[in-house]
Amino acid sequence: MTPNPLALIAEITHRCPLHCVYCSNPLQMMGAESELVTQEWIRVFHEAARLGILHVHLTGGEPLARADLKELVEAAHSAGLYTNLITSGIGLSEARLASLVDAGLDHIQLSFQDSREQGANWIAGAKTHAHKVALAETIRRFRIAFTVNLVVHRQNLDHLEEMIAFAEQLRPDRMEIAHAQYYGWALKNRDTLLPTRRQLENCLRLVGEAQKRLSGRIRIDCVVPDYYARYPKACMGGWGRSIMLINPGGEVLPCHAAGVIPGMRFDSVREHPLEWIWTDSAAFQRFRGEQWMPEPCRSCERRTEDLGGCRCQAFLLTDDASATDPVCTLAPTHHLIESLQLETRSGEERSEDVSWTYRLNPTREGRHVTLPPLSPRSN
Ligand code: SF4
Ligand code: SF4
Repeated sequence: MTPNPLALIAEITHRCPLHCVYCSNPLQMMGAESELVTQEWIRVFHEAARLGILHVHLTGGEPLARADLKELVEAAHSAGLYTNLITSGIGLSEARLASLVDAGLDHIQLSFQDSREQGANWIAGAKTHAHKVALAETIRRFRIAFTVNLVVHRQNLDHLEEMIAFAEQLRPDRMEIAHAQYYGWALKNRDTLLPTRRQLENCLRLVGEAQKRLSGRIRIDCVVPDYYARYPKACMGGWGRSIMLINPGGEVLPCHAAGVIPGMRFDSVREHPLEWIWTDSAAFQRFRGEQWMPEPCRSCERRTEDLGGCRCQAFLLTDDASATDPVCTLAPTHHLIESLQLETRSGEERSEDVSWTYRLNPTREGRHVTLPPLSPRSN
């Protein structure tokens, strides 16, 4: 029997005032005209609660871009869901935060691109850092659960110690040090974002030290890049095992990136109840459990732990979504990951220039706009 999902990731919009080079949104985004309307989301939150879901993560894009965010928080809260707002903070005034807290918001996750203003604005493609720093102080005054998220990669890992100290003085309950994950825009910019092994080892040491020092005061979680692991992680806890993601247009996916897999059809909450999509839809059953696994996963003793790794990563790196995740050292395609690691090391030796693609935005008509290039960072 299929267990209940535990969390719903509600991507309520793809619109965002930032242009982060590692954004996990798909390259083809949905414009405002395709988004589920308020009443559709309200119905979905009630269906989610009946299905046994406990948490809703309101995310995007930038969820604050939706004028009805307060009504959505209210609906999720009244359905009995723990509500988490994942935000860049742009569009959040003190008055708006007060109204969201009144509506039942339980937790806020504020993301930072760097500890240094110039570097942060460079990565976001927008001047937003100073506003976020001021907003962190406001959030503390509301006494709701507060996480500071720092996305780390090759361009900022060499001053991670400074970034941890920066996050510490914002006084969050929790700090998340998240390595960029190579999907969406981060995959497009992987050559300049992928850390070296030296950087990763240094990062793990610094995070370990900070966890000890801040124990009992700030919890620190670290999301590491798969590419340096010996075995892959059970991506999103396993395909169709605990998480549902609804994109702005209402399609339900097992993770952020599953839309890249060709031939998959993701059913919509506009046409089916959430429960049917979870238990019966072809997309959620496609890679659930172990039946789909090839060798060496099929006879591997770790298969119940990592479930063969990430299907999207397998497709993006090998063109075959059913392949063993190439991150695994046992995978026949693991040489692809070794080559990427080698390229990254030689890039560091050359200390090359940085050139990357900023994440674009869907316009109201669903077309893309183009950003002028910014000047390279000088920290
Ligand atoms: S990663 Fe950056 S660009 Fe993408 S949704 Fe978040 S704030 Fe916006
Ligand atoms: S062979 Fe498959 S199941 Fe075994 S560790 Fe590698 S990815 Fe996991």
